[in-house]
Order: sequence, then structure tokens, then C-alpha cells
Amino acid sequence: MTILVLPRTLDAPVSALPKIKPADVKRLGKLGIVTIRDLLLTLPFDWQAYGAPAEVSQLTPGRQASVIGTITAISAKVTPRRRMKLTEATVRDDSGSGLRLVWFNQPFIARQLHKGDRVAVAGTVKEARYGGMLEMQNPHHEVLEDTDDYVPTRVGGLMPKYHLVAGLSSRKIAGWVETALPLAGELEDLLPPSVRERHRLVGVADAVRLGHRPDTEEQWHQARRRMAFAELFELQAAFALMRASIAAEPATPIPYRQEVIDAFKAGVGFELTRAQRRTTWEAFQDMEKTTPMNRLLNGDVGSGKTAVAAACAAMAHSAGLQSVVMAPTEILARQHLHRFRAYLEESFPGLVVELLVSSQSAAERRRVRASAASGHCALVVGTHALIEDDVEFANLGLAVVDEQHRFGTRQRELLRAKGTGRPHFLAMTATPIPRTLALAFYGEMSISTIDEQPPGRTPVETRVVEPELRQGAYDLVREQVRLGRQAFVICPLIEESEAIVARSATAEFERLQKDVFPDLRMGLVHGRLKAKDEVMRAFVSGEVQVLVATAVVEVGVDVPNATVMMIEGADRFGLAQLHQFRGRVGRGAGQSHCLLLTDESSEPALNRLNLMTRIRDGFTLAEEDMRIRGMGELMGQRQHGMSDLAMEALKQPELLNEVRQEAESILQSDPTFTEQPVLRAAIARRLELTSIS
Ligand code: ADP
Ligand code: MG
Repeated sequence: MTILVLPRTLDAPVSALPKIKPADVKRLGKLGIVTIRDLLLTLPFDWQAYGAPAEVSQLTPGRQASVIGTITAISAKVTPRRRMKLTEATVRDDSGSGLRLVWFNQPFIARQLHKGDRVAVAGTVKEARYGGMLEMQNPHHEVLEDTDDYVPTRVGGLMPKYHLVAGLSSRKIAGWVETALPLAGELEDLLPPSVRERHRLVGVADAVRLGHRPDTEEQWHQARRRMAFAELFELQAAFALMRASIAAEPATPIPYRQEVIDAFKAGVGFELTRAQRRTTWEAFQDMEKTTPMNRLLNGDVGSGKTAVAAACAAMAHSAGLQSVVMAPTEILARQHLHRFRAYLEESFPGLVVELLVSSQSAAERRRVRASAASGHCALVVGTHALIEDDVEFANLGLAVVDEQHRFGTRQRELLRAKGTGRPHFLAMTATPIPRTLALAFYGEMSISTIDEQPPGRTPVETRVVEPELRQGAYDLVREQVRLGRQAFVICPLIEESEAIVARSATAEFERLQKDVFPDLRMGLVHGRLKAKDEVMRAFVSGEVQVLVATAVVEVGVDVPNATVMMIEGADRFGLAQLHQFRGRVGRGAGQSHCLLLTDESSEPALNRLNLMTRIRDGFTLAEEDMRIRGMGELMGQRQHGMSDLAMEALKQPELLNEVRQEAESILQSDPTFTEQPVLRAAIARRLELTSIS
């Protein structure tokens, strides 16, 4: 029996655990596991059920099982042809029946297990070969050190599956967890007892014990439900606190004036949709208050969010206040500049709109800064340069962030800090977010949903193109260009450095120009390109007929003459992102096409892409994406900071509703969470984390 020296506190780093190597500490770090507390709170994401130990004579091929017995033979060898390292062993149960064990490429097993060892093994039972013994391949194993003690601690029954990175195994993690488990009793519970009772949730210590070492599936589910509830609760409580603290800061009210909205409607150039009118009205009602608006405008691609923001800016202007709009890319900022001018210029002659981006000359930027600081301009549209250049406003009343998921919390905060009081704040999505997700992730905001497209759009004809039909896709591009139209070609998503992305896009561009479309005028944009805007302008003006772009430039550019969106490696993108690309075409009167090229022939991949051909509504697609690929994929791994467990729990919207109600009711009776010190500490930790992101 090994004597384990236990680290004394939950806050100790995992390196304090016995039998852990520095490399493992690093690996755990990649999974967000730094302290013993983190280790305990990270439950396995799934279990493999092997059932109670069985006799070999009871085993049937194809079933998962565990067996306890004695190793009667073990040897390692290398296969002659494929040079694979094999470890073979025989284990015999107490009745003497033998089971063959084979491990591939795990030569160390022959050093860990010896003839005569009493072991528990678990795995999938395979058919006997050449009439020999039944077999298990790559089984889990555990040496039972004390022969009197029959009960295996890690093998058999339920085997945990933890999230892993290279070099880790679920078994290793289970071993560390086992060492740390005695500390579970010291975990503080952030859920108040009353909440636990109302929702029949187990305490945190029990949840951790059951979650890592359940005896039944039911116990595991119980543990998970409790952990998910607690995590969502913490998040929602944090949101409630943020809402309260934002509401405590004064904002300058922007009184509603009918003549402003009348003028706006007259000058915008189209009839606002019902959804645009409703959401604009929701924003106006917020802006009239002395507490700052904090609203998310959630809408499909092309649903006309910009016009809503413009109406808000017009209202702010009429109250003598300035507005700022931040967009994620320069291309988009420039387009906004033109759009806002077009929407507002005619009806509001004194409303000056300026642009601030980093590629402008120093002199130009100085001029815009001065114009903002003096209060001369009513609206500044720009990129990150707005915060990097430290633009000051005479009287900022409204801050708008477009495609808000592309900005961190800190960047949004910096933008909002530009007013003398707190400006009203409007965030816009790039693609629609299902309601549950919006509530879970942006719970500190009120949500307005634009669920309607402007009339007169022809649906984009969408097709999945398999490799052998690639030529047909090129023919379509050529045909459309011949008709005077334009096309986008989006390069596959590669999760490498910008430099590699740029290189592969360049290679694709050169190949297309040389071999496929030598006679067409082509352009290339990628994140590294200095002349991005020139290329974009050339595309907007029609000079460039086929634009090759990387996913990095997935901007909301509006080129009504573009009718083909061809996406390479489409299977690598999420449905929401594909939908966003598709939204770039179909903006004019002509029939548009979206071509999803893929080398994938697996059924699930093709089925997923085929959803694009059938579903036009972005909200529905986002929900499908969520169902198929998981919530994390939809939100982008970067910013959500939520565990998979909590994400998974979001699939039941009722749970989130219950959590929100509990968080709200605590805040009502105890606005600073003084009676909930554990919860308060957890929130403080979380808010600190998110503000760094
Ligand atoms: P998104 O919500 O994707 O940001 P935009 O604001 O870019 O959408 O609008 C997409 C296009 O639709 C723009 O060309 C815009 O001028 C146009 N548009 C917006 N609202 C309407 C409307 N009510 N009727 C007609 N066209 C509209
Ligand atoms: Mg937009």
C-alpha cells in the first residue's frame, strides 16, 4: 500500500499531488485545471459502463465487460510486417477460464503487469480467433494490490471519460482525482441550501464524489445536474450583479421625439420591417431612462440591424448627444460609414459622420479626433482604432458594437468608458443566436430580436458540391460573371497561424487565376494583406469579378451584384458561419447561388451540410448547429468560458429559466450577496476572469 501525502488545501496547485510529472501539470493546465479545486470540480464528460465483474464463461462478443482474475502469461513483441508493438496476456478468472488480452502500441504494459498479478480488466469483448479464447483489445486494467480487497477502484463498473489533451489519459486523471477526493468535503457550496432543496440538488461534496466515482448512471446524472445548475447559477448571479451595477450608473436620457423617427423613416430609403420598428422602439424606450441601455440586437444576416442602430444615433443626435459605432474590421467600418451617411444624411443635414481606422494618415486621424472631442461630429464609425487611439468625445450618449462576439469584454468596456456618464449601449450580433444561448451568455443585457427579413429577397439557391462535380461549380461562376455578376470564393478554415492561412489563400488564388479563370479579373483578400481595402473597393466597384477571401474576412460586406458564394472545405465551418457567408449574396434582385464544396463523404458531414440547402432561417440553423456540434462550437471557444457540462445543460431551456429566477430572487432580497459569501467570491473570480479575456 502506497502512503499518499495529501496536499492540504484545495487551492494548492495540482503539482502538489503525488505521482504527477511537470509535463502532466502543464497538460492539465491546458484543460483549465490548475488547482486541486479545479481538478475536483472537473467531472468526467461521459462514462463507459462495464458492469460488475463477470465470469469469463458469461461473456459474449460485442459486450462491454469487466473481469477480475490472475495474469497467467504476458509477453511483448513487435509484429514482423507492420512493426506494431503488441503486448499479449492471458487472464484467468477464479473458475480457471481464460481471456486473451491484447494491447497495441503500449509496450509499457508488459512492465506494469506480471505473471501472478491479480488484476481487474475492462473493455469490449471480441470474438475468439481460431477457436481460441475470447479477447479484449486495449482493455483498461488495474492491479489489485491487496488480494483480500476484491474491489477494483478504477476498473470495471463505470469507467470515467475525461476531456484530454495529448499525453493524458482518463485513467491518469482518475488516479489523481482519487488522491484528491478526500478533500472534497472542504469544497464550499455556492448554492444556498434553500435553492438546493427546491431543486433537489445534492451538495457540492457529494456531487464531486458521485460525479467522479458513481456506482450507477443515475448518480452520475445527479452529480452533473447539480454541477451544471451551480455553474449557470453563478453566471446568472454574476449577470444580475452586473445589471444592478450598470443600472446604478447614471446615463443621460434621450427623450423620444416623434419627428425624429418620422424624418428617419423618410430618409432611410426603404420601409422599415415590422421587426425593425419593434426593436427600434424597444431601444428608444431604454434610452429615455436615466439608467443606461444595455441591449443586444439579435438578428439574422441581412435583417437590417444597421438601420436600427442608425435610428438610435439619430435620436441621440436630436438630444445633442454623440454616438460611436465600433466594427471588427476596416472593410466593415468603411461600409458602415457609407451606410450611416446614406441613411441619415438627407433627413439630418447637420449630422456629421466620420471614420476612424488605423490605416488613415496621422493627420486624418487627428482631424477626426478633434471633431469628436469638440462635439462637431455626431457619429464616429471605426474599428479597434477607436479605443487604441483614445478618441475622446465631447458628449457621448450612445455606443454601438457591431458583430459583438468579435470583441472581448474589455474592449466593449473601453468603448463604453468614453462618455462622461455611461453611454447607452447597443450590441449587434453577426448571426442570430438562439434565445437560450443569448440568455445564458449575455444575461447582463436585454435582448431584442429581429426575426424578419426585408421583403423582396430571392432565396439563395444552395447546393452541396462533391469533389467530382467541382468543375460544375467553376462553370457556374464563369456563367454568372459572363452575365455581369460577381463571385466570392471562401478558402477553407485552417486553424493555423495567420501566415499559413495567408499562404494557402494565396496559393489557391494563384491556382484559380492560372488554371481555372485565366480570363477573369480576380482579387485576393486575407488578414495579412495591406491593400485589403483597395481590393474590397475594387470588388464593390465591379472591377474585380471573382474575390478569393479567407474566413478571416468574413465581414458583412454588402455587394448586391455578387451572386455566387463558393465555399471551399465547407464541412469545416459551423452552420451559423456558413449561413453568414451565404448572407453575402442574394442582396440584389438576381438569383444567387451558394456552393458548399467538400471532400468529406461521411454521412453525418453531408447531412449537416444538406441542412443548409433546406433551411433558410438563421435561427433554425443556429439551433441545428447547437444540436449537432454543441453549444461551444456555436459560440466560439474563445469567449464563452463555460464548461461543457453547463453547455450541455443549456439544451433544456427550463433549467436555465429556473436558474435565472433563483439568481434574481436572491439579488432582490440581498442585493450585494452579503449573505452568500461563497457565491460572492465565486462571482468575483469569474468577473475577474472575463474582464481579462
Ligand atoms: P445586417 O443585419 O446583416 O447587419 P444590414 O443592416 O447590413 O443587415 O442590411 C442588409 C441590407 O438590407 C442592406 O443593404 C440594407 O440597406 C438593406 N435593408 C435593411 N433594412 C431594409 C428594409 N427594411 N427594406 C429593404 N432593405 C433593407
Ligand atoms: Mg451587419
